[in-house]
Amino acid sequence: MNKQPKSILIVGGGTAGWMTANSLLHAWPNCQITLIESADIGIIGVGEGATPYLKQYFKQLNIAESEWMPECDATYKVGINFEGWSGSEGYDSYFHPFFSVLDKPIADMFFHNCGLRRRGFEAPVKPDDFFVAKTLSNQKLSPISVNASGPDIDYAYHFDSVKLGRFLRKKALQKGLHHIVDTVKDVALSADGAISHILAEKSGSIAADFFIDCTGFSGRLIHQGLNQQYVSYAKQLFNDSAVAIQTPLDTPKPHPQTRSIAMQAGWMWKIPLTTRVGNGYVYSGSHISADKAEHELRSRLGLLENSEIQVKHLKMRIGRLERHWHQNCLAVGLSQGFIEPLEATALMLTQLTVERFIASCSSPDKNLTASREDYNQSLNNIFDGIRDYIVAHYQLTNRSDTDYWLDNKNNTDSPAVLSAILSAWESGGDVERALHANKHSLVYLRPSWYCILAGMGRFPKDLKSTNNAAQLSQAKEYCQRVTSQYFE
Ligand SMILES: Cc1cc2nc3c(=O)[nH]c(=O)nc-3n(C[C@H](O)[C@H](O)[C@H](O)COP(=O)(O)OP(=O)(O)OC[C@H]3O[C@@H](n4cnc5c(N)ncnc54)[C@H](O)[C@@H]3O)c2cc1C
Repeated sequence: MNKQPKSILIVGGGTAGWMTANSLLHAWPNCQITLIESADIGIIGVGEGATPYLKQYFKQLNIAESEWMPECDATYKVGINFEGWSGSEGYDSYFHPFFSVLDKPIADMFFHNCGLRRRGFEAPVKPDDFFVAKTLSNQKLSPISVNASGPDIDYAYHFDSVKLGRFLRKKALQKGLHHIVDTVKDVALSADGAISHILAEKSGSIAADFFIDCTGFSGRLIHQGLNQQYVSYAKQLFNDSAVAIQTPLDTPKPHPQTRSIAMQAGWMWKIPLTTRVGNGYVYSGSHISADKAEHELRSRLGLLENSEIQVKHLKMRIGRLERHWHQNCLAVGLSQGFIEPLEATALMLTQLTVERFIASCSSPDKNLTASREDYNQSLNNIFDGIRDYIVAHYQLTNRSDTDYWLDNKNNTDSPAVLSAILSAWESGGDVERALHANKHSLVYLRPSWYCILAGMGRFPKDLKSTNNAAQLSQAKEYCQRVTSQYFE
């Protein structure tokens, strides 16, 4: 059974709308695709970091880095540097790298050392020393191998989100997308509860086989039109606000990393582009006011006296839909849910949502209802799996300097996966077994869990000495050697 719609109306022209349009135009060249966006309702205009999935996205669309990166002021990203999250002595910062085949020879040493240290023996366990990405970042190198036969390692990008949207719009228009600038005022349903058409201010009634809601947090179709249920993550993730500010580049050649710096009631991102730096403070509105958050951010950036540089205040709704695909409507982007941007996963979720939708519609062996059910379940698993890892950043902290960190540290509402992994880790038990037992719920895999638990310093305080010191220089020497061999 071919479930591919003949005509699709995408509502919304933020990054989600334009990414969706390009994927659909590529997969279904014979489908009639229209995108309508409002001139009166703006885009969110933040979101400047990605995961390695974005590399695959451009690859699938046959768009070279040399074409899109300069237009979007994009830089490479090899991981995230977490600063001030742990609160434990000796664990001031750690790097969460994008992993690669190059890590293999020394990653096992890191996993082994973590086991030793969990059981009370001294051993080097700082993730930065055991993964090649951090050496690349320290030396401000790009992750592209200098010789064609070199390794193709995982990496991601930073980019200007407004420019990325414009670039993707240009590409979609070149491929024949029908584009309307108008505001959707109403959503009309047929007797079976599906969407029959939308009503736009100037264009009037627009019908389609299938509708995609990319209207951002408002969810104009999926929430307001189809009244779909939302599952909040607010009990585990307190941050519901952000304040963003752009500053000039402070160095001509930045480190290819996002910095994530813990603050009084949240954390701050620093993202280097080719033309400027994006900064923002993601915080809990129950723990700090917008004015105080802005003051703290400006103070960190040395901008207290500079009122000319304007900030942007934002509210965030954290959670996900119960059903992303309902009737003939799919929600994509902020309309379907959002997990705060700590690991920059939103565009990856957009991509997965659309890719899986295309695959579901092409699957011959299931009817539409069964495909939809499986699809929604699989997306919920991905959202919840990411949430589990993000929550770990807050609940593994040992900080007690503000109510915010205390409330996080003492939060008893822990995801089951996190509790299982942490209990195995801290009891000196079998972490591998705990990871294996939860493998269907995990989005972040073994290396990421080891990095966060080690990076946050979840080890006994009193350690018996061992003679493991040589391992550290061996690991550092290895990282340096492969970096010099393949990158410049
Ligand atoms: C503080 C913060 C930081 C973030 N950082 C990251 C990050 O580092 N990495 C990452 O991947 N993501 C990040 N995100 C998420 C990212 O910004 C979004 O996922 C991305 O921009 C896509 O947004 P969107 O297209 O869903 O919504 P929006 O950008 O809000 O676009 C909505 C579109 O819908 C249109 N629209 C709305 N209502 C109507 C209507 N009635 N009629 C017609 N059109 C309508 C609007 O005109 C607009 O074009 C961040 C988000 C926040 C809040």
